Amino acid sequence: MNTFLAEIITVGDEILIGQIVDTNSAFIAKELNKIGISVYQITSVQDDRQHMLQAFDEARQRAQLVIVTGGLGPTKDDITKTTFCEFFNDELIQNDEVLENVEQLFKKHISNTPISDINRKQALVPSKAHVLQNLYGTAPGMWMQQDGVVFVSLPGVPFEMKNLMTDKVLPKIVAEFKRPYILHKTLVTYGMGESSIAGRLEAWEDNLPPYIKLAYLPSLGKVRLRLSAKGPDREQLEDAVERESLKLHELIKDILYGIEDEETLEQVVAKLLTQRNMTLATAESCTGGRIAEQITALPGASAYYKGTVVSYSTEVKIDVLKVQRDAINEHSVVSAEIAVQMAESVKHLMQSHFAIATTGNAGPSKGDSDADIGTVYIAIATPKDIVVEKFSMGNHRERIVQKTVHKALEMLQKEILKF
Ligand code: ATP
Repeated sequence: MNTFLAEIITVGDEILIGQIVDTNSAFIAKELNKIGISVYQITSVQDDRQHMLQAFDEARQRAQLVIVTGGLGPTKDDITKTTFCEFFNDELIQNDEVLENVEQLFKKHISNTPISDINRKQALVPSKAHVLQNLYGTAPGMWMQQDGVVFVSLPGVPFEMKNLMTDKVLPKIVAEFKRPYILHKTLVTYGMGESSIAGRLEAWEDNLPPYIKLAYLPSLGKVRLRLSAKGPDREQLEDAVERESLKLHELIKDILYGIEDEETLEQVVAKLLTQRNMTLATAESCTGGRIAEQITALPGASAYYKGTVVSYSTEVKIDVLKVQRDAINEHSVVSAEIAVQMAESVKHLMQSHFAIATTGNAGPSKGDSDADIGTVYIAIATPKDIVVEKFSMGNHRERIVQKTVHKALEMLQKEILKF
């Protein structure tokens, strides 16, 4: 199967002067990768006709699919549509469906203001374009094809772009293009630098089949080792990835921290709780609400997540969570005993099936406890019992918090699986 390549072009002076960050490309690249399409190049160009024409022409020579975002507004500086007309030797014509959509959007959101000519201009599209109706904004998406290369033009507003990608563009790509499969498997290591790991893996890496690649992705004390395989036969890829990941596992077992699938830990936890119709509550001290933040970033979290008590100060632990003062005096606020009491208490308070509690010392000063900086206790209360573990998470405040959040979700996942 020939390699199928895509390119992304983002249009807008705002990107090139650093006023906005090009998040559109990251989203599009990720989504294309998921369906087996590699992105060869990402380009950002000014709102300038010549610059755009040059980028279109270069991309057409390298890729079979070019996704362009931005420059579709009705104002003079938005010139993507007219530039496409010039590029494809086409002309703008009115599309009645788009006009109807613009009128509807005006009625719904701007009430009685009659739509102006400038907004009516949004309904003009290149005559050869297949229109992708944008239900969330006035600029339509467009799918244009010439000489075997597809150009897709999408609005720059991230929310509109994402909806069009998900609802219209990706399904159309899946239906119309023959693509290879792509599989990823990521092993996360902890406590060893990238170059030392690379030294260890050299012989194995040199013998990987040509369709499997290894990437080193370092972040905050961890190095993620991602195996990516690409090819026409899904079963063969699955077998090969499994075989190579077992070999890799053997080589790094002393530093292996976990295995990451395509889903994040909070997505996995969400799925497990939903399947069981069970709920979670949290009591967070050293993580200060970060577990709650991560869980509630997922839409639909209210189905399984009850809430959190950010019991950062000792008084809140005592007054709200009813942790015993004597226990704090005896064991210190950073202790297994207090983590257990916090978890049990919040589980009872919020009537949940599971509860997570964190208490630790994230530094830089020691706070209300004598525990060393980096000492963290995580407790998980379950419908049957309670588990608690002690960790030494280093001495970097942000890393301590991030690792604690991750570890807590990992422990929770393990416990939920018992039910
Ligand atoms: P509209 O129809 O709303 O004018 P448009 O297609 O003309 O949309 P732009 O005017 O280029 O899009 O961008 C609209 C807004 O979308 C920008 O102000 C910016 O906030 C956001 N945006 C544009 N391009 C990107 C990008 N590549 N990444 C993230 N945000 C972007």
